[in-house]
Amino acid sequence: MSNRTFTMIKPDATGKGYTGAILDQIIKAGFTVKAMKWVRLTEEQAGLFYDIHRARPFFQELVDFMISGPIVAAILEKDNAVADFRELIGATNPANAADGTIRKLYAANIGENAVHGSDSDENAIIEGDFFFSKLERF
Ligand code: GDP
Repeated sequence: MSNRTFTMIKPDATGKGYTGAILDQIIKAGFTVKAMKWVRLTEEQAGLFYDIHRARPFFQELVDFMISGPIVAAILEKDNAVADFRELIGATNPANAADGTIRKLYAANIGENAVHGSDSDENAIIEGDFFFSKLERF
């Protein structure tokens, strides 16, 4: 069981003014913020972050979306963090997301889906390391 995960509030959600509401929901669900930053990715950085999807037909659309505005990146702590956070955000496609989940409440479609959540303990570490130095996490 992991106790840390990594998230991004994506450009659709930051652009629509949902950052505060999403962070509030995350904290009320029991997650503690261990690192956080507000950044705009370059095309190269977005491509590297989503490297695993490079061969997928939606890759360029995903990169273009992720660099279209600022994001909030964060490391979150809670018992069973990876699985509990995936449950909190809901299915990739908001049309399939459960009521009350962040994607159901704030996402527009499968691409512009408001938030990222790591899918494994291993990726939570890789993704947190992508954004944060040791000096930036607590
Ligand atoms: P996640 O783990 O729920 O974020 O989903 P995936 O790892 O399958 O996909 C990563 C991200 O790629 C998603 O969160 C979406 O932003 C994007 N994505 C996935 N499928 C599609 C698609 O069919 N079209 C577009 N435009 N973006 C997609």
